[in-house]
Formats: sequence, structure tokens, C-alpha cells
Amino acid sequence: MQEFSESLRLQGQKIAFVPTMGYFHEGHLSLMREGKGRGDCLFISIYVNPTQFGPGEDLESYPRDFERDRNLAESVGVDVIFYPDNTEMYPEHFQTFVSVEKVTLYLCGLSRPGHFRGVTTICAKLFNIVKPHVAIFGKKDFQQLIAIRRMIQDLNMDLEVIGMPIVREPDGLAMSSRNVYLKEQARDSALSLSRSLKLAKEMYDTGERCASRILEDVKKFIEGHSYTRIDYAKICDTTNLEDIEHLERESVLALAVRVSSTRLIDNYVFGDVLTI
Ligand code: AMP
Repeated sequence: MQEFSESLRLQGQKIAFVPTMGYFHEGHLSLMREGKGRGDCLFISIYVNPTQFGPGEDLESYPRDFERDRNLAESVGVDVIFYPDNTEMYPEHFQTFVSVEKVTLYLCGLSRPGHFRGVTTICAKLFNIVKPHVAIFGKKDFQQLIAIRRMIQDLNMDLEVIGMPIVREPDGLAMSSRNVYLKEQARDSALSLSRSLKLAKEMYDTGERCASRILEDVKKFIEGHSYTRIDYAKICDTTNLEDIEHLERESVLALAVRVSSTRLIDNYVFGDVLTI
């Protein structure tokens, strides 16, 4: 892979890259279409990275379907799929990790210790292997995007990162490979995430700038739905992810909610459009 990428770089080709864990939906495909427009060749990776899953999480049951993914990737013009296995990515004696210290402390970092260390490590490895000029990530995983931007800046990695908008189902549910876990009634409760974001947007648009007042209404709304258990609902500064009380700087409402046994995340950056 490295040799192939290097030979393309020497020919002056621009490499765009979309790392994924597979089981594609329209969110993944939107990143690939963006990559197609930004590079001369489009590489993706499909790898369910074990180091970003904690004990008791869904590493084994995470949905996988390579043939389906391959056809979808082909349909949007992907040139190369990098599809490694665990022995290639984490051979015996592997012991080096990349850890972004601060922006990973909050939000998902609290309930998923070690998760971002796994994410930044695998992304660093993939960037070294695929050698992209530009990598495309979704804003659905907002904290992940911030951590990766931080790592790239802090470690002087030579690539550009593009963040793309969240793609939603027609009813507003943020697309996720994990949505297949949702049974019918849970699916209804899952809509409380995007609907509460809409509620927060409406409060903001009518002049509300107090984070705790917005969060109070958001939490009440989500808790009014059955099968929901809020992991966190926070309003944070978009650059350092620290809690903010007054919405003056650019801020994001970030949610993680367990709906039945499925943990869902969603977010809204105040002032952005929200297509629900
Ligand atoms: P995953 O396969 O879940 O690791 O996701 C691969 C990439 O797709 C990440 O950059 C995600 O942020 C992005 N992604 C996942 N879901 C969505 C979505 N609904 N809209 C936009 N991007 C997404």
C-alpha cells in the first residue's frame, strides 16, 4: 500500500482518503463523493479497529458486509479499498499508541476510556500507510474530528482534514452503522436525539444564549421518551470541547444517549443549518 501510494505521489497524483469501519450508509458515501472531488484518486479503508472498543462493547457484533461495501464503494468511484486484518495492523509486539490528551477527556472520553487513543492510533497508522494529501471525516463524530485535527497539528502530519455535515435519515435520525441494532419501538425513541437538537436550535434562534436553560429542556425532552438513558448532553466550545455557560463563542450541543442497549451520538453546532 505504501509503495503504491508513493508511486502515485511521485506521479503528482493527489490522494484523497476516507477511513471507515465499513457497513456503509449514505453518510459514508457522502464523504467518498467529497473525496472524489478533492483528489485525483480516492482511497478508503475498511477496518473495525479493536483498540477503539472497550471491554463489553460491540467489537464482535459490529455489522460487517464486505461485498455490499465493495459494490457501494465502486458505485461512488472509489479507486482503492485498503482492507487489512488485525495481524497486519497489530502484529505481535505492537506497543506504540498516539494519545491526544485534553480534548479526549470530556464527552465520549468519559464513558469510553481508551476509545480515542485507539482512534488516533489507527488514524496515525492509516495516514502513514495510505499517505493521503487529504482525509475526509464526518462531523457526526465531532469529538473524533477535533482529536484528529489536534493530532495532525501537534505531530506536524502533512495532510489536510475536511469535516463533512451529518447525513440523516428522512425522519432526522443521524445515519450510523449501529442503527441496525434499533428495534422498532427503540427506533421511535431514537428520534428524540435529533428532535431535541431541533428544539435547542429553535431556542437559540429565538435568542436564548444560556447553556443550562437549553440543556434542561433538551434533557427533559429526551427523558420523556421510553428506553432512553442520557450518557451526556453538553454544550461545549467547538475548539477545546470545554463546557460553556453562555453561547457567545462557536459552540456545539453534543449528545450521547443509550436507547435500549444501543448508544447513539448526535450533535448540532449552533448557527449551522439543521436538515430535519
Ligand atoms: P465509521 O465507519 O462509523 O467509523 O465512520 C467513518 C466515517 O464516516 C467517520 O468520519 C464518521 O464521522 C463518518 N460518518 C458516520 N456517520 C455519518 C453520518 N451520518 N454523516 C456524516 N458522516 C458520518
